Amino acid sequence: MTLVDCGPKTPEALAALRDGLEQAGFALGQIERLLITHGHLDHFGLAATVAAESGAVVCAHRADLPKLTGDRAFVEPMRALIREAGFPSGVAEALLEALRRYRGQLDPITPSCLLNDGDLLPLADGALEVLHTPGHAQGHICLRDGGALISGDLLLEEISPNPLVELDGNGHRIRTLPALLRSLRRIAALEPTITYPGHGEPIPEPAWRVRELLLHHEARKDRLAQMLSGRAWTLREIAAAWFPDLSPANLLLGLSEVLGHLDLIEEAGQLAIEHRDGVLHYALEPPPRAST
Ligand SMILES: [Zn+2]
Ligand SMILES: [Zn+2]
Repeated sequence: MTLVDCGPKTPEALAALRDGLEQAGFALGQIERLLITHGHLDHFGLAATVAAESGAVVCAHRADLPKLTGDRAFVEPMRALIREAGFPSGVAEALLEALRRYRGQLDPITPSCLLNDGDLLPLADGALEVLHTPGHAQGHICLRDGGALISGDLLLEEISPNPLVELDGNGHRIRTLPALLRSLRRIAALEPTITYPGHGEPIPEPAWRVRELLLHHEARKDRLAQMLSGRAWTLREIAAAWFPDLSPANLLLGLSEVLGHLDLIEEAGQLAIEHRDGVLHYALEPPPRAST
């Protein structure tokens, strides 16, 4: 039996997993293969527990290995990012402390098999196709069986998936929102008839939801471009204008949202970035003058 994602490492999630499996006529010990859509703790926190009890093979995309294995290489680049956003150093420490607390809800795991885009995973009655869909997480995958798509956190009905800040192996930030939008367009082109998201109920005929998300981000990008046309803003100032009550735990979500839209403007060749005393200031690049 194959399980996709397993929930965070909490007693409640483990009990819910056992209950759900039982209702489907299975036991946790029967899981042979655990597929992880991406390396966020609400999707893989229990993976080590499941593997220990069942002997299941654990599979994930290689791009999420740092998150799955608990690599701490992101700490220094994250401090730099918060500093360049215009926050005092205490803010970075509060954020890192909040992230440390979350680590209680996961056991790090090294997957025993690494997945690639296009892999076909045999099932008793068919196969699951692996689609690499980066954006919300660099190693995010969706799984397709005909018109049915298991969409992880790429496509959710109630909330707009966050383009969470991610760093490459050299500590450079990856442009996550442009990648997320490309992944959304890719799955829409496959015209799934139903998606099974990582949170919430199945979404039948999900094309409308993809369109809605694309329009949402387009509108936010335009709103940000409008702000930046007046003067240069720091990341901290934009985040405060968009999300006035951000707690340290939610700061990363807010900053990711803003950075994602700055990336869209930058990809369109319209972003001017200036360093002032170690803090980055963003403005709209003046449009090129028409030649006379
Ligand atoms: Zn996630
Ligand atoms: Zn999630």
